[in-house]
Amino acid sequence: MRVREKFWETIPLRQLTPQEWEALCDGCGKCCLHKLEDSDSGEVFYTRVACRLLDPDSCRCTDYSQRQRRVTACVVLRLEDIADFDYLPATCAYRLLARGQGLPDWHYLVSDDAEQVHALGLSVRGRTLSGEFVHPDGLDEHIIHWVE
Ligand code: SF4
Ligand code: SF4
Repeated sequence: MRVREKFWETIPLRQLTPQEWEALCDGCGKCCLHKLEDSDSGEVFYTRVACRLLDPDSCRCTDYSQRQRRVTACVVLRLEDIADFDYLPATCAYRLLARGQGLPDWHYLVSDDAEQVHALGLSVRGRTLSGEFVHPDGLDEHIIHWVE
């Protein structure tokens, strides 16, 4: 993937190429977990239940190019929705940059090590249940607190 040097530090989000926008993702897989929203407060709760297309080891989508066709609830992150990124995990590069914050040292663009997000326990690797095996009405039994 061809991207400009340190683009995440020097180039405004609105001027990123599609490749640079995609490259911001650290591959944590957290946004592919099913979530519940409190209808009164709007608070979002993450569950350990993952989208059926998420690979639990790589934490990557197994059909990324067809994800919206395969999973209608799949959310594609777009620049125009930046004001709504607060529901994303606190570690997510899109949320961090949307808030004017920098990328953490462990992010693979900074560290040049794509395994760090997993080694530091910041991804969903080994911690999920597939949505194939959980009824939607039972999601509240699987709320987790390790995604902030
Ligand atoms: S939460 Fe952010 S960094 Fe993690 S997989 Fe989703 S988009 Fe990528
Ligand atoms: S379809 Fe969407 S939510 Fe499901 S694993 Fe792929 S990117 Fe994640």
